[in-house]
Amino acid sequence: MLKKTEEFLIDNYNISERTFEIYRQALKDTAEQFEDYDEIREYNQLKVLKAFQTEKISDAHFTNTTGYGLDDIGRDSLDKVYANIFKTEAGLVRPHFVSGTHAIGCAIAGNVRPGDKILCVSGLPYDTLLGVLGLSKKKNSGSLDEFGIKTDIVDLDSNGKFQFEKIKEAIKADSSIKLIHIQRSTGYAARKSFLVSEIAEVIRHIKEVRNDVSIFVDNCYGEFIEIVEPTEFGADIMAGSLMKNIGGGIAPGGGYIVGKKNLVDAAANRLTVPGVGGEYGATYGLMRSFYQGLFSAPHVSIEAVKTAIFCARVMEIAGFKVFPPSSDKRTDIIQAIEFGNSKKLVNFCSGIQAGSPIDAFAVCEPWAMPGYDSEIVMAAGAFISGSTIELSADGPVREPYIAYIQGGLNFDHGKIGVLIGLSKVLEVE
Ligand SMILES: *Cc1c(COP(=O)(O)O)cnc(C)c1O
Repeated sequence: MLKKTEEFLIDNYNISERTFEIYRQALKDTAEQFEDYDEIREYNQLKVLKAFQTEKISDAHFTNTTGYGLDDIGRDSLDKVYANIFKTEAGLVRPHFVSGTHAIGCAIAGNVRPGDKILCVSGLPYDTLLGVLGLSKKKNSGSLDEFGIKTDIVDLDSNGKFQFEKIKEAIKADSSIKLIHIQRSTGYAARKSFLVSEIAEVIRHIKEVRNDVSIFVDNCYGEFIEIVEPTEFGADIMAGSLMKNIGGGIAPGGGYIVGKKNLVDAAANRLTVPGVGGEYGATYGLMRSFYQGLFSAPHVSIEAVKTAIFCARVMEIAGFKVFPPSSDKRTDIIQAIEFGNSKKLVNFCSGIQAGSPIDAFAVCEPWAMPGYDSEIVMAAGAFISGSTIELSADGPVREPYIAYIQGGLNFDHGKIGVLIGLSKVLEVE
């Protein structure tokens, strides 16, 4: 760090000498690991580039469509580019998905029928999915359980790993199970995220027992962190959010589904209506940003991983428990830090907020959020509202006061955010 940078930080953000010491040490400790991620980024960039070239993407794909959006070539070709990248038969990439939850909801709801059962094998799904399935405290009208579609959960073991035998028993015992839900990233749980190799292993076990179940993977935050994706190992359908990795910080919103054609088509019928599916849907001039975001995504995702690893190392040195540890191989961009204290949690988030390009002046306060069961504190100063590929931190205000930090369009900014966050945490001690 230049002396001038340090002075700048002290003059503007009141960073202590102790904070700088931790910062310097963490940078040294993580340098070697970063080289591995540069290689992943290089491979994935090539993969994305080639997909664009294979589908012959040109200026014509950026045109503005209105109305019904029939024959929107930008949209239809983007579906193919995604399918190419994820090595699937089909893709459905739409601004009409209001969020990742919506894409996941369509992927699931489109592929189950009354009397079918969903089996979640990576424990309780992400908070916002509980409302979709009908598992939340506050019932939502129209949740799947109201349609006679029940959900069973197989918990992870005490080490946060899949329980292969229990999963197999559950599937064998109940022929109404038609869809398996696997969540790659940790969400608001204190467990590690699943490497693609671990997801591949559980899929192998499931397919040993039954081949007629559809395997769904929630891929949120996982895209481009490894050189392979779950769809290359038997995941039949997968979904995620464009406000995360694969939007590259440029797509202004949306979600995606990739997978087997019949399953993606069924999900498209849920997004629109049966008979219309993915063939309607004007894109209102958004396609250029979707393509450009996708093109940037391998780079941006790795910048975010570096921010996560750096944050983990910083917090380890400062004496906090982190999930995953800084030295762990990553499969998503999430870093959890256990503060064990609500003030430290809120201060950390305030630091991230103060370091944001947008809304740096805003005060972070815990708030009840739609879709979540407890109060949440959120730091977000993003160009795209709520975008979590941009540097952001949040956490439910409940024991043990865990902050989840993710994103960072570039590591230079990520580092600064973490530095200010740490400095505010150390103030509490
Ligand atoms: C973020 C997330 C979702 C939901 O995505 P939204 O765009 O916030 O609706 C679902 N599952 C996991 C694991 C996530 O991290």
